[in-house]
Amino acid sequence: MSPVSSGTAGGSRVLLRRLRDVMVQDADTQTRLDRIVAQIGTTMVADVCSIYLRRADGSLELFATEGLSRDAVHRTRMKAGEGLVGLVAEGVEPISLADAPKHRRFSYRPETGEDPFQSFLGVPVLRSGRVVGVLVVQNRYARTYEDDEIEALQLIATVLAEIVSVEDLTGALSEFQIKPTAPETLKGRTYAPGLASGQALLHDPDVEPTRYLSDDPIAEETRLNEGLEKLRSGLEALLAGDVQTLGGTSYEVLETFHLLSQDRSWERRLRDGVKNGLTAEASVEQVRSEHRARMTSAKDGYLRDRLADLEELDNRLLRYLSGDAGERKDAPEDSILVARDIGPAELLEYGRGRIKAILLEDGSPSSHAAIVAKAMGVPMIGQLPNLLSRVEAGDTIIVDANEAQAYLRPDRMVSAALHSRFEAQSAEQQLFAATRDLPSQTLDGQTIHLLLNAGLTIDLEQLATTGASGVGLYRTEFQFMIADSLPRLDAQTALYTEALDLADGRPVTFRTLDLGGDKVAAYMPTEREENPAMGWRAVRMGLDRPGLSRYQLRALVRAAEGRLLRVMFPLVAEVDEFHRAKDLLDKELAWARANGRAGPSKVQTGVMIEAPSLAWDTAHIAQYADFLSIGTNDLMQFFFAADRGTAKVADRYDILSRPALTFLKHIRDAAGDTPVSICGEHAGRPLEAMAMIGLGFRRLSMPAGGIGPVKRMLMSLNGEEFARTLACLLHEGDVNLRNALKNYAKAHKVIVN
Ligand code: PEP
Ligand code: MG
Repeated sequence: MSPVSSGTAGGSRVLLRRLRDVMVQDADTQTRLDRIVAQIGTTMVADVCSIYLRRADGSLELFATEGLSRDAVHRTRMKAGEGLVGLVAEGVEPISLADAPKHRRFSYRPETGEDPFQSFLGVPVLRSGRVVGVLVVQNRYARTYEDDEIEALQLIATVLAEIVSVEDLTGALSEFQIKPTAPETLKGRTYAPGLASGQALLHDPDVEPTRYLSDDPIAEETRLNEGLEKLRSGLEALLAGDVQTLGGTSYEVLETFHLLSQDRSWERRLRDGVKNGLTAEASVEQVRSEHRARMTSAKDGYLRDRLADLEELDNRLLRYLSGDAGERKDAPEDSILVARDIGPAELLEYGRGRIKAILLEDGSPSSHAAIVAKAMGVPMIGQLPNLLSRVEAGDTIIVDANEAQAYLRPDRMVSAALHSRFEAQSAEQQLFAATRDLPSQTLDGQTIHLLLNAGLTIDLEQLATTGASGVGLYRTEFQFMIADSLPRLDAQTALYTEALDLADGRPVTFRTLDLGGDKVAAYMPTEREENPAMGWRAVRMGLDRPGLSRYQLRALVRAAEGRLLRVMFPLVAEVDEFHRAKDLLDKELAWARANGRAGPSKVQTGVMIEAPSLAWDTAHIAQYADFLSIGTNDLMQFFFAADRGTAKVADRYDILSRPALTFLKHIRDAAGDTPVSICGEHAGRPLEAMAMIGLGFRRLSMPAGGIGPVKRMLMSLNGEEFARTLACLLHEGDVNLRNALKNYAKAHKVIVN
């Protein structure tokens, strides 16, 4: 016999209705849960129905039962992983057994009086993908539970999860882990250094269903159908390019979502939920919770990624159902932004000031989002395992991005220890401030120009605080990425004027637009590309769209009236591209003159060496360009054939290796008297910066946070002597250069940390 299946959907609905009656009764938590197990037991014709809830130590405590001995309630606790109940929680999956005592994990508890019960069905009670308890039915005689009974019990567990989380608000369940309350420490990878503390702000907050139970399954199914229809057509519109905003989501990911949205078994699970009496939202929530839970326990990376995609799809569907378009709300003060991944434009939208740190479950250290975080001076940690299922909105978090650690809900001891680290950090910053006005010279008197990488006007305030001698890289595309529409000539001119004003006579090197790749402007049409980093971006787009380029160059020429104008072109792959780009600038200069404008007092044009092809033609380009700047972020990704945006390969190869350093040395030597700077992220790391100085580079441009540490390093370095050592090391056989350089620094008291 299959009790619930006697008209399965009808049976579940009756039960859900009874549960709702219990929920509205005026009673305490224990009484409510006692009544609930009694109802479930009766409807499912089970001899036993029990609820186990998870305690902070991971054990599962028998909280309510119908059928087991009452004396066992609150006494029986299964340790994490113990017995069949522990197994359900561990595997995050239902377990159905006709002959439970035979199972190797069966654990007999005499106080419960359960030995006469042969069959066992247990399902996890999931909230936001976390197991908060286990719901069990047992029967005296051996019987096999049908699939629809298992599904019915899962459905009840979904409602039960909601009931216990509402009860939790009363404080009655404070000893249990309904919401994560225990402190946790997560270790990831540092994308941008620094310390911060604040409250979790979820980038993609969960849409929580407001209603769980429905009276009208047909109406709910219609709502579900409409939601699915909107979801699919929304994805199709994005894929067709009718809607020109992909945010941080790539085309490939959308394609996967689209494919998954056609998945019949996903749809069937959703339909079963509403047929059985859940609202459309609650049914999606049930499926989402299962996806999350499986994701947390999945060992296989591919499976994890697919489950993450499914979860994202569930989220999108919930948004459609709840009419929440997912618009960004203003971040509260002291927010720690928590996301699976984030695009640079999305990050810029949050603006600066309120976001104190960023934590990502995925992401990549040399992605543009990481660069934006550094530009904003915001610490960022990526690759934090299962971050999203461990954090709830509003949780207190302390971020130590110097050690790549995030402390969730820290206790008093941890907070106190970390706050003393905060004090140490500010003491170190005072130390850097004290070196700000000292000459930037090595021990043997070589002058090294330290410059700032900027992209937002606010970064330029750092010129004064760091003592940088100018801006070596001004990423003009950031303005385009935050705007809702193409910035007009006036807006561009105003921004560049402000930048030059703030620089107060120090040189500012404006890099022309480097859009494309992972830097998308929402309003500009994007075409699907297999390899966007090597695609239609930077100067390639600039040359193909001369209107856009000339507009920007005109704004630069205007802003620099009567002052020095330095313009640099990104991702130039061959000398001719530079000539063509420079022609556009010359035309704008001529246009300004023809229109009676004063024009800049002096113009210098430079090129970024980011494509290996140009690196091998350095001597040639150096004849034409006034200056060169090596973008090591891009150059190294092409040199090692390792995508800077893919976490698994982004820093698999080391710039402090013989091939990379020899390559950079070739560029430096081939440039002759033409100044060459380094402006990739590496320039801001003391050990790497030391190597660059050893190769002969005298101009380093970096994020503001790097200037203090790099200056401290170079002021303790004997440049000549180190250059000789490095030259020898580059000729030695198998030597780990990074270690050799660290050893050199240690032996010669060069401060590289
Ligand atoms: C680089 O590639 O090193 C660089 C500085 O440019 P971006 O990081 O903006 O691509
Ligand atoms: Mg680049």
